[in-house]
Amino acid sequence: MSKVLIIGAGGVGRVVTHKCARLPEVFSEVMLASRTLAKCEAIAAACERPIRTAAVDADDPAAVERLIRSFGARLVINVALPYQNLPIMEACARCGVHYVDTSMHDELDDTVYDYGPQKAFGPRFQEAGVTGLLSIGFDPGVVNVYCAYAQKHLFDQIETIDIIDCNAGSNGLPFATNFDPETNLREVLCDVPYFEDGRWHTAPALTISREFDFPEVGRRRAYLMAHEEVLSIQENIPGVRNVRFWMTFNESYLTHVRVLRNLGLTEIKPVEYNGVQVIPLRFLKQVLPNPAGLGSRTTGKTSIACVIEGLHRGRRRRVRIANVCSHEAAYREVGSQAISYTTGVPAALAARLILEGAWSRPGAWTPEELDPDPFMDAIGPMGLPWRLEELPVEHAADHRARSPRRSQPVLRR
Ligand code: NDP
Repeated sequence: MSKVLIIGAGGVGRVVTHKCARLPEVFSEVMLASRTLAKCEAIAAACERPIRTAAVDADDPAAVERLIRSFGARLVINVALPYQNLPIMEACARCGVHYVDTSMHDELDDTVYDYGPQKAFGPRFQEAGVTGLLSIGFDPGVVNVYCAYAQKHLFDQIETIDIIDCNAGSNGLPFATNFDPETNLREVLCDVPYFEDGRWHTAPALTISREFDFPEVGRRRAYLMAHEEVLSIQENIPGVRNVRFWMTFNESYLTHVRVLRNLGLTEIKPVEYNGVQVIPLRFLKQVLPNPAGLGSRTTGKTSIACVIEGLHRGRRRRVRIANVCSHEAAYREVGSQAISYTTGVPAALAARLILEGAWSRPGAWTPEELDPDPFMDAIGPMGLPWRLEELPVEHAADHRARSPRRSQPVLRR
């Protein structure tokens, strides 16, 4: 029985809080803290049992440290923004408590993609005997565990991993992002690192696309995207030659993104307006719909999978491990749409596995570095069932992302 502190009262925070509140045998007490106390209180009011709330500025490690100590937390689930990862990890290292987050840390002026600063906490977490689990949302997160599962049970040698993500849902608005607009637009518009033929390449944003077959959704065009799990999976799946991340976008979304970028509204360099320094992307975020409020109007499904090819007992094999999640069902259960649900459920499960011991491993790890079995056994009953299908073998070399024949330029930087 342990106390858990959840930081971040957004769409994902709502899901994590509900899921933890339903497990009193694991999480004896739950506290939800965020910058805005009223958001925590609104989520708490809808929970199945009383939970505590607090206001905290998680950019300040000392403030987080005080909160951890006064509440007596044993584990912190960080579902604030990626900018808060390092200060919250710092507070956890000082207090010697477990740490879980759902995406790689980020700095507004930093374009380098790297787990290094978070991994650097590893020795301090090890010394304190606590686990730091990095990026256990859905993608990154569950997809990393799918890869570890394939490595452990399905292949002798994995050659190719394509992570494919389709949100086939609709919220009826002309333009809205499914999670924090700032993070979403930066991710969509940055250069794309991908691993192919055993080495790294970079492509401009949204210039390479390919059709995939998505479970329950069908064939959709998906675009090669920058995503942090490509980095850690390439590092931790021995001998893998191709690791790529693909996401679908509808034409309206792409048109809006192109216009916003062409107008300079996705820029992070401050401009002066009436004597005030304004970051255009931050201003844009203020005027776009709040993703945490989209749950009630979102319909349809998310369909996310790993398509994995390699060798098994001397023969080629290609499999797809996938989850399909309904926006409406997620909203009925916890009041958030499926993007938040598929992120929050794995984070809550990871916290449970750490406290129960199955995923307790002192240090700082990405999900594919831990034993996939306890997670794969529990994630279905917790709300995200998975399916494994055999697919016809397809030689990865025939589908090189960098083949110009298969590229379809859409946006250029
Ligand atoms: P939201 O924007 O809905 O919520 C973020 C919350 O963090 C807000 O409630 C906000 O505060 C709070 N917050 C921001 N800054 C601070 C701060 N300095 N101190 C305390 N609280 C702060 O985001 P989501 O819930 O959609 O996303 C949460 C996380 O999940 C993000 O890191 C995102 O990148 C990640 N994510 C991961 C996915 C995956 O599959 N791996 C998919 C989707 C999201 P307040 O409102 O209280 O002012």
